[in-house]
Amino acid sequence: MLIGYVRAVFRHYFRSRCPFCARTGWIARSNERLRVHFPEFHGESRHKVACPVCVGREFAKRDVDYSTYLEGIERDLDDHPDMEPERKVKLEKIIANVTRLRCRSVNVARAWMGLGVVDEGVEVWKARERVYD
Ligand SMILES: [Zn+2]
Repeated sequence: MLIGYVRAVFRHYFRSRCPFCARTGWIARSNERLRVHFPEFHGESRHKVACPVCVGREFAKRDVDYSTYLEGIERDLDDHPDMEPERKVKLEKIIANVTRLRCRSVNVARAWMGLGVVDEGVEVWKARERVYD
């Protein structure tokens, strides 16, 4: 019921044009607006997260949790360049699987809000290649 209300406000008041993320549905965790309006989601990270205005605070929080988890794996990879290849492959598979889960979570919210869904394959590629746009 609440999400229906939020969606109605988003569509009618903002005309489905989010004033917070420039309609992309994503915002960098290091973004100043995020620090001011949603400090609990802000961080010194290169990752983008689902925009809390577009998808709601609850879904955005879940996306921040996925982002934080992925950052931890990336840090592990960066801190151990001499890691055993088997372990490296395992961590890269985890990155891909977590990114897929992340996309599915975000896409549920985006569909509810009438936004286009994100391409899971593209996002997995970006996560593996560490493209942060
Ligand atoms: Zn937004």
